[in-house]
Amino acid sequence: MPTPPRPPAKEALVALCQAFGPSGSEEDVRELITSWIRPYVDELQTDAVGNLIAVRKGRSEKKLLLDAHTDEVGIMVRHVDENGFLRFAKLGGWDDRVFAGHRVKLRTREGSFYHGVIGMQPPHVLSEEQKGKTIKAEDYFIDVGALSGAEAQQRGIAVGDVGVLDYPVFEFAPDHWMGKAFDDRVGCLLVVQALRALAEGKIKTPLTVCASFSTSEELGLRGARVSAYGINPDVALALEGTIGADFPGVPADRKPCSQRLGPVISIIDSTILVPRKMTDFLRDCAERAKVEYQVKMPIYGGTDAGAIHQTRSGVLCGVIAVASRYIHSPNSTLYWPDYEKTEKLVMEAVKRIHTLVE
Ligand SMILES: [Zn+2]
Repeated sequence: MPTPPRPPAKEALVALCQAFGPSGSEEDVRELITSWIRPYVDELQTDAVGNLIAVRKGRSEKKLLLDAHTDEVGIMVRHVDENGFLRFAKLGGWDDRVFAGHRVKLRTREGSFYHGVIGMQPPHVLSEEQKGKTIKAEDYFIDVGALSGAEAQQRGIAVGDVGVLDYPVFEFAPDHWMGKAFDDRVGCLLVVQALRALAEGKIKTPLTVCASFSTSEELGLRGARVSAYGINPDVALALEGTIGADFPGVPADRKPCSQRLGPVISIIDSTILVPRKMTDFLRDCAERAKVEYQVKMPIYGGTDAGAIHQTRSGVLCGVIAVASRYIHSPNSTLYWPDYEKTEKLVMEAVKRIHTLVE
């Protein structure tokens, strides 16, 4: 077998973030991850709903689950009109104000990509009443450069096509990265790197390590709910890109977390109240690894941990995240040293988490 590509972490993150993966159409992300982790694991399979599940057997039959979701917020074509304009439905938690004027990349059922722009009326033609009003997602349209509905159909464009607001990933200032899907491709990278470190012997655990690259988190934690049931872990970590809000207009008492302050440890969000045993463990790991960390402000957001910890008779589950500004928009940002510090914390946690379940 040829040597699989082992891109440095930054290149891997760019590739992951750039990959097309609205909920339910995450095969490009799965393929990329599969090509990297195949040599690191004993079992690898995609389940019926689209979770990529990897198992690395340990001395112990007790299982650690590392979870990250592969999907990103997206859109789905819901109507093609006779003039060739498309209307769309939201896949995931979008703010309707986001859409105006953005570029979209969509995929036909046959798998070819097409591009468009979410059109808007320029200010020149707005009535006084329309000015300053928020447009609802259902009232936006996409211009794909089709002259008619028939032409759109000929090009393979149809109801059910999925898409993303698409911009290239790049470093816009030293260590500052911009891209569409750090939520949660940064979590995917953390899981990949943990599997790699285990395979290369850089970290060790007696536990069997299972990874779930979970589908459709943005539609309500749908993939993790079933992958956790199938895996039946003893302990789990959900790894995420979360709501960095250290920017103008957000008061200190409404800021879930900040960039540049290192990994984010959750105590509670809208989906899980993390047991004290776990948060104490993660704080201790950060201190041992000499990693500066922050606690996420209660009670913002939700993660796959919400589904995982309620699996079967309950799973001890924690959440570690990297702060990303402007998530659920086409241009979220990430500060690279935050990623590096989070990776350090994750490695420390994987090394020691068996102490919680032995
Ligand atoms: Zn997420």
